[in-house]
Parts: sequence; C-alpha cells; structure tokens
Amino acid sequence: MKNCIFCKIASGEVPSDIIYEDDKVVAFNDLNPQSPVHFLVIPKEHISSIKDINEENISIISHIFLVIKKIAHEKLLDEKGYRIVNNCGEFGGQSVDHLHFHVLGGREMLWPPG
Ligand code: 5GP
Repeated sequence: MKNCIFCKIASGEVPSDIIYEDDKVVAFNDLNPQSPVHFLVIPKEHISSIKDINEENISIISHIFLVIKKIAHEKLLDEKGYRIVNNCGEFGGQSVDHLHFHVLGGREMLWPPG
C-alpha cells in the first residue's frame, strides 16, 4: 500500500535491518528497541491490523508464529523466554497501520504493561 512504511520495508524501498525473509513475511529489527532483542514480523501483504484477519488470510498468522519461533530459537531466547506483542488500534498502542508482531527478549518483562 502506498505510503505504508512497512510495505516499503517489505518491498525493499526503505532499508531496514532485515533478519529473515520468505515469500510471505519479513522480520526486521525495531528502529527503537525496547529490549536487547526487539524485532518485528510482518506479512508482505498489506493487512492493517488483526481486525482485518479473516477466514481467507488467517493462515498468515500461523506462519508468522512459526517464523517467530524459529528466529527466537536462533537468537537463543528459548531458555529464558520472550514476549510476543501485537498492538491493535489506538487504545492498543498501534502506531503503524500494517499488521506486525513485536518479539522482545534478552531481559525480564514486566506485567501489567503500561
Ligand atoms: P506499534 O506501536 O505500531 O505497535 O509498533 C510500531 C513499531 O515500529 C515501533 O516499535 C517502532 O519503533 C517501529 N518502527 C516504526 N517505523 C520504523 C521503521 O521505519 N523501521 C523500523 N525498523 N522500525 C520502525
């Protein structure tokens, strides 16, 4: 989608620190990391948020979670664990309207989140 920063990252128009890519998704390090490990996994297809997931595109979610598991394992996050976050909409704290999952690791997380 035009003017979507994550579409531009997915297409390579905007450079980013890509750590994984396949035909369906891209993973890249967050520009403003909130933990020692902080990467984002996005679908290449423009999906605005989890609100736009339906019966036809639901398979992207399971694929994203398999990719998260693989990268987290490679980054040695399995032993201590990690957090997966999806912000949805204004009150959910979503600032980029292209579906993305944050993966945070390398430090202990707090609960509840702010
Ligand atoms: P949200 O607040 O929508 O859940 O998360 C958006 C995330 O995208 C933020 O953590 C922000 O730092 C990250 N971000 C925004 N623009 C860019 C960018 O151009 N490159 C990268 N690597 N991360 C970005």
